[in-house]
Amino acid sequence: MNEKELLQIKQEALDEHIPIIMDDTLEVISKILTDLKPKKILEIGTAVGYSSICFSKFLAENGKIDTIERDIQRVSQAHVNIKKMNLENTINIIEGDAVDILPTLQDKYDMLFIDAAKGKYPFFLEHALRLMSENGIIIADNILYKGYVMSDYNKHKQRTAVRNLREYIKQVTENPNLKTEILEVGDGLAISKRSSI
Ligand code: SAH
Ligand code: MG
Repeated sequence: MNEKELLQIKQEALDEHIPIIMDDTLEVISKILTDLKPKKILEIGTAVGYSSICFSKFLAENGKIDTIERDIQRVSQAHVNIKKMNLENTINIIEGDAVDILPTLQDKYDMLFIDAAKGKYPFFLEHALRLMSENGIIIADNILYKGYVMSDYNKHKQRTAVRNLREYIKQVTENPNLKTEILEVGDGLAISKRSSI
């Protein structure tokens, strides 16, 4: 991988205040993906493609990433970045709202990365569970949302997001088929595996 190009893509995204994955979060996920060697990854929330490009290093041979983004400007920037890294045949951007796209997907995925509208996390989870492969893993970013989720903070315009993030945490921790860890890395990461593995 061309690390110089990758750093440029990252810096451009940061300059444009695009909320790309944080370094410490990426480090945790990279370790998981090294062991997992995923054949297929689904990402909800491409932005400009930075996290997808980073994850692609850990794919098994001929592995693929599907990634969903609804903002057309970000979709076109993601196409440019993915082309720059010669990953057009590896990363497939699905343009549209994940709320509409997810119900149409049928493939199984080894890693499902949820990193989009926080108010939709319980909905995303429902589909992630349906699409998760036997050894699959579901990772949700921004799960602690600047600490709001664990505080009694509820009078803010972000309260719908906070309520839904709490609902997500409740569902993954209470689901007997899942084993979930919540990490305080970055903006908070929820990592769920099947309890049978
Ligand atoms: N994963 C990226 C960052 C994603 S930022 C990275 O780490 O590099 C979140 C993105 O999700 C934004 O670009 C936003 O437009 C997109 N998004 C939010 N809600 C969405 C939805 N319902 N469907 C599709 N994309 C969505
Ligand atoms: Mg994020």
